[in-house]
Amino acid sequence: NAALLPENLRDDFPILAQTVHGDKPLVFLDSAASSQRPRQVIDAIVHCYEHDYANVHRGIHVLSERATDGYELARRKVKEFIGAEHAHEVIFTAGTTASINTVARSWGDANVGAGDEILLTPMEHHSNLVPWFQLAERTGAVVRHLPMTAEGLLEVDRLGEFLTDKTKLVAFTAVSNTLGTVNPVAEICRQAREAGVVTVVDAAQSAPHMATDVQALGCDFLAFSGHKLCGPSGVGVLYGREALLEATPPFLGGGSMINRVYDDRFTPADLPAKFEAGTPPIAPAIALGAAIDYLQAIGLERIHAHEQALVAQAWERLSAIEGIRLLGPSPVEHGADIRAGLVSFVLDRPHAHDIAQLLDNEGVAVRAGHHCTQPLHDRLGITASTRASFYLYNTPAEIDALADALAGVRERFKPSGRKRRRRVEDF
Ligand code: PMP
Repeated sequence: NAALLPENLRDDFPILAQTVHGDKPLVFLDSAASSQRPRQVIDAIVHCYEHDYANVHRGIHVLSERATDGYELARRKVKEFIGAEHAHEVIFTAGTTASINTVARSWGDANVGAGDEILLTPMEHHSNLVPWFQLAERTGAVVRHLPMTAEGLLEVDRLGEFLTDKTKLVAFTAVSNTLGTVNPVAEICRQAREAGVVTVVDAAQSAPHMATDVQALGCDFLAFSGHKLCGPSGVGVLYGREALLEATPPFLGGGSMINRVYDDRFTPADLPAKFEAGTPPIAPAIALGAAIDYLQAIGLERIHAHEQALVAQAWERLSAIEGIRLLGPSPVEHGADIRAGLVSFVLDRPHAHDIAQLLDNEGVAVRAGHHCTQPLHDRLGITASTRASFYLYNTPAEIDALADALAGVRERFKPSGRKRRRRVEDF
């Protein structure tokens, strides 16, 4: 399995071949927020709208049949991509956020009651926190958190203490979108299952970057978004184990999710339609199928190995910058497998937002802020950080561009002994 050569993929991503701020080549290091998409995916969207678009599952006409076939083919591609047992365990949603809210509203409302415990972790994205807080508010359940080390590793050896006879579910991320930590998903799911606790895995940052096998992981629910894995925005996936989905009432009500509607009641449709009320994201789902084809042709293992090499390079180059604090576990200390493709950091000066603005001036696109992980930032004792995130199309030269530009920013802001603090507007 030869190493991935990102140079050979660059032509597939037309958006990356541009300069910004005049003549600065774009260095796009914000794929954890949303990736870019290759021509193959853009072509799939265009092809759908130019040739095969109509509403699905309803019309008895050629276009509707083609659209339905394309939509259901995409479902089977997702099934293979995540190693699900059945295609009807794959629910198309609007994204990770919609998938997690669906579990909270449907499975959660039916199974969680006053005094029950919902176990979360300190490194969750807001979309894997707020829906559970809302569920707790509706039901009187209690939210608890599995502890995390100062480095940003979950204390999985203490999981047993937190899986009590009141615990109904544990919801946790496979990869932290801020720390980059890869969590031991299979181990957490194994312990949870033994304790009779349902697992919800936020795979928003893992599904794009490493192979996913829901049966090997042993999870009950798993959520991810299309737009972070070279697919379009507006489509995502909720995987649920058949037995659980069968036993769970639907959340959104409307067209398509019914078997029969009467004056004052309905009977729900079979899976997966039961959880897909209304007109689904048809072209986006078909294009998500094209994105999966694209990633699988390259190979998730190769993509992951490529990103690990970029992380190792970034870690080495960035740790040499004075006044920097890199967040999350060190790949030097813990090995490459502890991290996925991103590095977040804080400098003693300037502020994260100023860093992002100054890097942008050099054509380097990164993200600054709390990355929808405010409780995590609170625990780290910071209000904001800067995040550089990588994908299959990023090159070692781009990591060097980031490190050089960042070293330049720190150099300009280093303590100078001058009275007036230099401000970002000065540059
Ligand atoms: N969870 C994690 C770990 C994420 O990184 C994100 C996206 N930033 C989400 C959930 C939410 O995904 P979306 O906005 O696509 O619903």
